[in-house]
Order: sequence, then structure tokens, then C-alpha cells
Amino acid sequence: MTKPHIVIIGTGGTIVSSGASGAQMTGYSIQGLDVRSIISAVPALAEIANIDALPLLNIGSSNIKLSDWLKLTCTINKLAEDPKIHGFVITHGTDTMEETAFFLNLTLKTEKPVVLTGSMRPATAISADGPLNLLNAVRLASSKQAWNKGVLVSLNGQIHGARDVSKTNTVSVETFCSPSSGPLGYIIGEEIDFLTQSVKPHTLSSKFHISENFKAEDFPRVEIILSHADEDGHQLERCLASKPDGIVLELTGNSTVPAVAEKVLKDSEHQPAVVRASRTGSGPVTKGKAEWQEMQMIPGGTLSAQKCRILLQLALHRFGRNQKLLEKIFQTY
Ligand code: ASP
Repeated sequence: MTKPHIVIIGTGGTIVSSGASGAQMTGYSIQGLDVRSIISAVPALAEIANIDALPLLNIGSSNIKLSDWLKLTCTINKLAEDPKIHGFVITHGTDTMEETAFFLNLTLKTEKPVVLTGSMRPATAISADGPLNLLNAVRLASSKQAWNKGVLVSLNGQIHGARDVSKTNTVSVETFCSPSSGPLGYIIGEEIDFLTQSVKPHTLSSKFHISENFKAEDFPRVEIILSHADEDGHQLERCLASKPDGIVLELTGNSTVPAVAEKVLKDSEHQPAVVRASRTGSGPVTKGKAEWQEMQMIPGGTLSAQKCRILLQLALHRFGRNQKLLEKIFQTY
């Protein structure tokens, strides 16, 4: 039987990082290795698929930019037109993996599998998790079951959907969870077991697209403001003074707007699009008080603040400041 053809796109992260000894688990460095080194360290990959390596970036993922996402989307969309290519694996730092995955989930135009993976321990660590994560990701990207499921994230034997997945632990290999929906499935040895799938629009059914001539600097600016006890509204004031196109308020509980923030927003001459998200990490953000609705605050539903930011930025770029449409988008996506 012919093996599927998988492209592994390297972007950096701990999976290509190294420490001074097998015991070093933090403070390691990303120099010296890239995606080709980790592929050659896992010979079992060649038994599953024919692999092409594409080193695109080699950065810690906290440095990833919108311009990198535009490049990734265009690269994958173009390669996906090749009928010989079955699927894609993206190796990526875990810190912002969920954001890259969500951006791609909304903008890629292919039903071919796209799986992000990485590791929590550097390549040099005792019990490094990168090799098995990479093997599982290639297995998943090679599988017919992974078609048209949206962009997937796979680490530690689990399969998550890009929309709902979050990094939830700073150091554990069991860090990726989908707190409001659960994992889509599991990978155990050669077995891929899908339990469920997201009903939200993605890839081909998403209304967002990226073209080669889009530039990051032409996208609206959307900021996130984190709420906390003893809030004085100064951070929000400073943010409004910089005239962002949108603000995501990452608020307490079911996204409760503190009175001081309500006043700052009401008094502001500059009125950006405002989305309410929750800092709790799970559960839906609902419409809330009538006055928040009158102030045109959009509830972010089950999306995290960082994912609300991406959706708002894409929506403002694509459709402009159309309040009804923005509300609809947040209900739908
Ligand atoms: N610092 C790393 C990153 O690039 C963390 C990781 O990959 O696990 O996100």
C-alpha cells in the first residue's frame, strides 16, 4: 500500500529546544535544532508516511505574529492544492499553539488534515514528549478520519479541536484541555479513536479567508484587558486613549463588567467594538445585564479572550464595524 505524503512545517518551540543535560526541563535554548533534526530522531515516521520537512520559522511561540499566521495560511492553502499531499503537521511552541490553531481553523481552505503538535519537555530531556507527539501527529494527519474536522491539536495522546483547546498547565505534559467541550478523541498506539467533532464553522465553511496580498499592518488592532479585584479603570482608559479598533474585556466570572470599567467606557469618546470574555477558563459568557447589551458589548460565548481577539480582528477586517454582524459572528463561530 502506498504511504500518505505528509508535510511537516516547523515553526520552533520546545520540541526543537535543547538543554545542558537530560535533567534540564526549563530555561533551555532553541538554537541548534530545527524540524529536520526532530524528524530524523524519529525513524518510525518513515513507516507511516513519506515526509517532506518545511522549516518555516524557528522561534519561541510567544514571539509569533499575525504576519507569521498569514504566511502559514497562504503556504498551506497553496500546498493543499497538490493532490499528492495528504495532510500537514505543524510543530509549534505550546504557549500560543491554541491561537495559531484557531487562526488557521478560521482561514484555511482545505479539508485535508492539519495537526499542530509540540512538546513540554525539550528534545534533550529524559522522557522527552516530542518524539511520540510528532509520531502521533503524523499518524493523525495520515488518517482519513481526520479529514474535514477543522484544524487539530494533538499532544499527550489526545486530539483537540482548534476552537476549544487551551494550554492549562505551565509545565505538565498533560497541559492541553478543551475545558468547555472535552477532547475530540485519543491516539493509542496505532489506533485513532474520534469520539466527537465540533459543529462550529471551520476551514471551508468559515467565511474568513486570507489572500497573498493581505498585510498584517492592514488588520484592525484589538487589545485584551484583564480585569481583577481592586480595579481602578486606568488600564482601560490608557487603552481607549490609544484608539484600538476593538477591545476584549477578560472579566471575572460570567464576564461581569466592574462599575468603574462601565463608566470609563461610557465616558470615552472613542468607542471600539467590545467583546466580553471570562478569565475563568471554561463555560459560556452570556448576554448579561441589559445595560451591557445597550452599550453594544458582545458576549464571547465559550471562546477564550485570546480567541475572541482573533475572531474580532478577522471579523473587523472582513466586514468592518457592523454591530449586528459582529454579534452574529460571535454566536456562530
Ligand atoms: N516556550 C515554548 C514555546 O515556544 C513552550 C513550548 O513550546 O512548550 O511556546
